[in-house]
Amino acid sequence: MGKKKEADNRFKKFGTVSFTSISKVNDFIDSLEQGKVMGTACKDCGLSFFPPRADCHKCLKSNMEWFEVSGTGKLVTYSRLGFAPIGFDGDLPYCIALLDYGDYKVFGRLADNVPEEEIKIGMAMKTEVNELPNGQLNYVFTKA
Ligand SMILES: [Zn+2]
Repeated sequence: MGKKKEADNRFKKFGTVSFTSISKVNDFIDSLEQGKVMGTACKDCGLSFFPPRADCHKCLKSNMEWFEVSGTGKLVTYSRLGFAPIGFDGDLPYCIALLDYGDYKVFGRLADNVPEEEIKIGMAMKTEVNELPNGQLNYVFTKA
Protein backbone atom coordinates (compact mmCIF):
# COMPACT_ATOMS: atom_id res chain seq x y z
CA MET A 1 0.00 0.00 0.00
CA GLY A 2 1.31 3.39 -0.94
CA LYS A 3 1.19 6.50 1.15
CA LYS A 4 -2.28 7.97 1.52
CA LYS A 5 -2.61 11.03 -0.70
CA GLU A 6 -3.16 14.24 1.22
CA ALA A 7 -6.45 15.89 0.26
CA ASP A 8 -6.14 19.47 -0.94
CA ASN A 9 -8.95 21.01 1.09
CA ARG A 10 -7.92 24.65 1.10
CA PHE A 11 -11.46 25.65 0.11
CA LYS A 12 -12.65 24.76 3.62
CA LYS A 13 -11.42 28.24 4.56
CA PHE A 14 -13.85 29.98 2.20
CA GLY A 15 -17.03 31.71 3.27
CA THR A 16 -19.52 31.41 6.12
CA VAL A 17 -20.22 27.86 4.96
CA SER A 18 -17.92 26.32 2.38
CA PHE A 19 -19.74 24.24 -0.20
CA THR A 20 -16.61 23.33 -2.14
CA SER A 21 -14.70 20.27 -0.96
CA ILE A 22 -12.64 19.40 -4.03
CA SER A 23 -11.58 21.96 -6.62
CA LYS A 24 -8.93 22.46 -9.27
CA VAL A 25 -8.71 26.15 -8.37
CA ASN A 26 -7.55 25.91 -4.73
CA ASP A 27 -4.87 28.54 -5.39
CA PHE A 28 -7.81 30.98 -5.16
CA ILE A 29 -7.65 30.54 -1.38
CA ASP A 30 -3.89 31.18 -1.21
CA SER A 31 -4.48 34.43 -3.10
CA LEU A 32 -7.26 35.45 -0.70
CA GLU A 33 -4.81 34.92 2.17
CA GLN A 34 -2.50 37.36 0.36
CA GLY A 35 -5.31 39.90 0.03
CA LYS A 36 -6.08 39.25 -3.64
CA VAL A 37 -9.29 38.12 -5.32
CA MET A 38 -8.41 36.19 -8.48
CA GLY A 39 -10.19 34.94 -11.56
CA THR A 40 -8.88 32.85 -14.43
CA ALA A 41 -8.47 33.62 -18.12
CA CYS A 42 -8.06 31.16 -20.96
CA LYS A 43 -4.67 31.59 -22.64
CA ASP A 44 -6.06 30.21 -25.90
CA CYS A 45 -9.25 32.20 -26.47
CA GLY A 46 -8.94 34.95 -23.85
CA LEU A 47 -12.25 34.29 -22.05
CA SER A 48 -12.20 35.46 -18.44
CA PHE A 49 -13.91 33.58 -15.63
CA PHE A 50 -15.12 34.48 -12.19
CA PRO A 51 -15.47 32.41 -10.07
CA PRO A 52 -12.20 30.99 -11.41
CA ARG A 53 -12.42 27.90 -13.61
CA ALA A 54 -9.72 25.41 -14.45
CA ASP A 55 -11.25 24.47 -17.81
CA CYS A 56 -12.50 26.64 -20.68
CA HIS A 57 -15.97 25.76 -21.94
CA LYS A 58 -15.34 27.50 -25.27
CA CYS A 59 -12.18 25.77 -26.48
CA LEU A 60 -12.39 22.75 -24.12
CA LYS A 61 -8.82 23.22 -22.92
CA SER A 62 -7.27 23.78 -19.52
CA ASN A 63 -4.67 26.34 -20.47
CA MET A 64 -5.52 28.96 -17.87
CA GLU A 65 -3.76 31.83 -16.18
CA TRP A 66 -4.73 33.74 -13.05
CA PHE A 67 -5.59 37.43 -13.07
CA GLU A 68 -6.42 39.74 -10.19
CA VAL A 69 -9.90 41.24 -9.90
CA SER A 70 -8.66 44.81 -9.55
CA GLY A 71 -9.94 48.27 -10.29
CA THR A 72 -13.65 48.91 -10.12
CA GLY A 73 -16.75 47.21 -11.41
CA LYS A 74 -20.18 48.69 -12.01
CA LEU A 75 -23.00 47.62 -9.74
CA VAL A 76 -25.46 45.81 -12.04
CA THR A 77 -28.01 44.84 -9.37
CA TYR A 78 -28.34 43.92 -5.72
CA SER A 79 -30.85 42.40 -3.36
CA ARG A 80 -31.24 42.69 0.41
CA LEU A 81 -31.92 39.27 1.86
CA GLY A 82 -34.50 38.75 4.58
CA PHE A 83 -34.03 34.99 4.50
CA ALA A 84 -30.79 33.10 4.00
CA PRO A 85 -29.65 29.56 3.28
CA ILE A 86 -28.97 27.30 6.29
CA GLY A 87 -25.74 28.38 7.96
CA PHE A 88 -26.02 31.98 6.76
CA ASP A 89 -29.00 33.02 8.93
CA GLY A 90 -26.67 34.61 11.51
CA ASP A 91 -25.39 36.99 8.80
CA LEU A 92 -28.82 38.52 8.06
CA PRO A 93 -29.63 41.02 6.82
CA TYR A 94 -27.08 41.21 4.00
CA CYS A 95 -27.06 42.22 0.35
CA ILE A 96 -26.00 40.05 -2.54
CA ALA A 97 -24.87 41.89 -5.66
CA LEU A 98 -23.36 41.63 -9.13
CA LEU A 99 -20.49 43.81 -10.40
CA ASP A 100 -19.69 44.18 -14.10
CA TYR A 101 -15.95 44.44 -14.80
CA GLY A 102 -16.38 44.48 -18.59
CA ASP A 103 -14.79 41.16 -19.56
CA TYR A 104 -16.34 39.32 -16.63
CA LYS A 105 -18.82 39.76 -13.79
CA VAL A 106 -18.35 39.12 -10.08
CA PHE A 107 -21.17 37.86 -7.88
CA GLY A 108 -20.85 38.43 -4.15
CA ARG A 109 -21.94 40.41 -1.13
CA LEU A 110 -21.97 44.09 -0.35
CA ALA A 111 -19.83 44.98 2.67
CA ASP A 112 -21.91 45.56 5.80
CA ASN A 113 -20.60 49.11 6.09
CA VAL A 114 -22.16 50.33 2.82
CA PRO A 115 -25.28 52.29 3.84
CA GLU A 116 -28.30 51.24 1.80
CA GLU A 117 -29.19 54.86 0.95
CA GLU A 118 -25.80 55.23 -0.78
CA ILE A 119 -26.27 52.19 -3.01
CA LYS A 120 -26.98 53.20 -6.61
CA ILE A 121 -27.21 50.94 -9.64
CA GLY A 122 -24.26 51.73 -11.89
CA MET A 123 -22.03 52.98 -9.07
CA ALA A 124 -18.36 51.96 -9.09
CA MET A 125 -17.39 49.38 -6.48
CA LYS A 126 -14.28 47.41 -5.54
CA THR A 127 -13.93 43.74 -4.68
CA GLU A 128 -11.97 43.20 -1.48
CA VAL A 129 -10.90 40.26 0.64
CA ASN A 130 -12.81 40.05 3.92
CA GLU A 131 -12.15 38.02 7.05
CA LEU A 132 -15.29 36.74 8.73
CA PRO A 133 -15.68 36.72 12.55
CA ASN A 134 -15.01 32.96 12.56
CA GLY A 135 -11.69 33.43 10.74
CA GLN A 136 -13.03 32.23 7.40
CA LEU A 137 -12.25 34.26 4.28
CA ASN A 138 -14.54 35.64 1.63
CA TYR A 139 -14.69 38.79 -0.48
CA VAL A 140 -17.09 41.73 -0.38
CA PHE A 141 -17.91 44.76 -2.48
CA THR A 142 -17.04 48.18 -1.08
CA LYS A 143 -17.54 51.73 -2.35
CA ALA A 144 -14.78 52.70 -4.77
ZN1 LIG B 1 -10.71 29.15 -24.18
